[in-house]
Amino acid sequence: MEVLKAADPSVWQAIMDEQARQLSGLEMIASENYTSAAVLECQGSVLTNKYAEGYPGRRYYGGCEHVDVVERLAIERATELFGAEAVNVQPHSGASANLAAFFATIKPGDTILTMDLAHGGHLTHGSPVNFSGKLYRVVHYGVDRKTECIDYDQVAALARAEKPALILAGASAYPRVIDFAPFAEIANEVGAIFMVDMAHIAGLIAGGAHPSPVPYADIVTSTTHKTLRGPRSGFILCKEQFGKPINSSIFPGAQGGPLMHVVAAKAVAFGEALQPSFKEYANQVVANAKVLAEELTAGGLRITSGGTDNHLVLVDVTKMEGMTGKIAEKSLDKAGITVNKNMIPYDERKPLDPSGIRLGTPALTTRGMKEAEIKKVSAWILEALAAADNEDRLGQIRAAIAEFCNDYPVPGIEQPTAVG
Ligand code: PLP
Repeated sequence: MEVLKAADPSVWQAIMDEQARQLSGLEMIASENYTSAAVLECQGSVLTNKYAEGYPGRRYYGGCEHVDVVERLAIERATELFGAEAVNVQPHSGASANLAAFFATIKPGDTILTMDLAHGGHLTHGSPVNFSGKLYRVVHYGVDRKTECIDYDQVAALARAEKPALILAGASAYPRVIDFAPFAEIANEVGAIFMVDMAHIAGLIAGGAHPSPVPYADIVTSTTHKTLRGPRSGFILCKEQFGKPINSSIFPGAQGGPLMHVVAAKAVAFGEALQPSFKEYANQVVANAKVLAEELTAGGLRITSGGTDNHLVLVDVTKMEGMTGKIAEKSLDKAGITVNKNMIPYDERKPLDPSGIRLGTPALTTRGMKEAEIKKVSAWILEALAAADNEDRLGQIRAAIAEFCNDYPVPGIEQPTAVG
């Protein structure tokens, strides 16, 4: 980054500091990951200079012959990876993908049946502060109070009573397999569109470590940057009959020119996910999360739903004397472990200081960590929580973690030894 260093030392310095943070700490935010160097390179390429409104072969600008190649590759690879009938790779993000899916299928005022944010859903699934909650009538299903798993009978009962135009499955903080078949059956029975937002689990689905929603759903939206390990972006898969409405609702409906440098990065990420090694990665992400849940349970913490089937673990930290989600996030941060505080189902505390933390294994798995390393990491987590008011101890843990991290390179960061 010598050019940037000379041109703008302030921005360069902030990037270098962030690079050092990513190298020297344990990244356990469930929605984060490390992309490959090839994905990073695409995003710094000259494709950022190009306008390409429209779709391959049907653009509103000249000079699109090369970006057409890139977008066609992304579409072909996503089609192969997920077996979808139609694909749109232009959404700038998961939120844009969801907006386009709603615009293509339902009208303002229609009812949507989605998972409650407080039980693991996402803002774009009908939160009153989001467009989805402002434009549509929202009914939420949740998890069962006892099992903390989705209550499919409740979904069916709500669907029959409320007659939603669209039923949405998918979540941001749900640690169990989502069974798409009963959702599809219920949607079919009440005549609703069945949409799945697979943002969190897309990489597990691509790697065969979670069942695919594609055979069941009318529309599947996703991000590309979480378990899927691509650039920060989105995409949509759908049945053939929704292909045209989805394309129109992305462009010109919701977006202007696609970010072709990011579309290129998505093509590369889909290509990487088609490799046999991606299956190993996806299975290891889940194996690591299971070990994490077991170790934290053995250490006296309560894991919601009793464990995990995917990449994340939702931990109720309030069983520990004086502990809250906010204190846990801060203490772990001081120890060099990045997580986020999170509501747990039926939480009696507030979102800014909830009862839980959400931990994920995708980024550590990408660094090459397996069960033995996750046991070590779990011990550090337990130690850091127990030492929440002991700055010295947290500092010692941070130093030990930084040293440990030297043995686990981050793809795409060339000079791990340059970090102090
Ligand atoms: N959908 C789900 C389930 C998510 O978890 C997220 C992000 O956390 C999104 C959509 C939104 O993605 P983005 O941040 O790219 O808009």
